[in-house]
Amino acid sequence: ILSINHLQKSFGDHQVLRDISFNINKGEIVSIIGPSGGGKSTTLRCINLLEEPTGGEILFHGENVLEAGYDRNKFRSRVGMVFQQFDLFENKNVLQNCMIGQQLVLKRSKEEAERIALENLRKVGMEPFINAKPKQLSGGQQQRVAIARAISMNPEVLLFDEPTSALDPEMVGEVLDVMQKLATTGLTMVIVTHEMGFAKNVSDHVLFISDGIVTEEGAPEQIFDQPQNEKTQKFLRNFK
Ligand code: ATP
Ligand code: MG
Repeated sequence: ILSINHLQKSFGDHQVLRDISFNINKGEIVSIIGPSGGGKSTTLRCINLLEEPTGGEILFHGENVLEAGYDRNKFRSRVGMVFQQFDLFENKNVLQNCMIGQQLVLKRSKEEAERIALENLRKVGMEPFINAKPKQLSGGQQQRVAIARAISMNPEVLLFDEPTSALDPEMVGEVLDVMQKLATTGLTMVIVTHEMGFAKNVSDHVLFISDGIVTEEGAPEQIFDQPQNEKTQKFLRNFK
């Protein structure tokens, strides 16, 4: 679905992404791991055009989305993102949070948006809370709502940027369970995470990004059990 070729990103004269290349195939679960500041978040933010890359290509179904004239809004609506800090609309309740994008961006009717929102809230176990405001929910519950909101947009690819790292430890499991379940539905997912056990179990492919480069990539067994690169080895030792 997506092909990232020699992606580069600089902020002023600080080159954060130097050369990021990888492919994401339909239905694949790709995990991105690596040290803090290595460029993982910037990579995701460039993929869904929250940041403008300063070099390279992003091919979506073979077309370069960075080219002039490409329908970027359409592309953005095909690629969803779940953030570390949930980013729900505080003044809207759970159900409204999952409906508004569908109505505004996808032009779905209120009835249809509500039906789809309820279906997805049920999948993440949040149907009993449809009238609650985000502030009344725990972090894990808010993140499950954010996931229901994202999948209600029927993305072709869903990007996750450390979806569990703002959570208290006892809530990490409920969010990972939801993501694991999603992974079995055929949704294409790219997950930046520090949950190594999860990455190893759920991923089809793992990227290790450090210093703005894909330093190593491969099957989870290869990356976690037989890392070849010294930086990967050093990074993973700290998680043992
Ligand atoms: P972490 O594991 O801590 O989330 P990361 O791998 O996600 O790290 P990034 O957030 O992509 O790393 O940041 C990579 C580098 O880019 C850092 O040095 C950061 O300071 C810099 N950076 C990120 N966003 C900006 C920005 N908007 N302006 C300037 N520098 C930025
Ligand atoms: Mg980050």
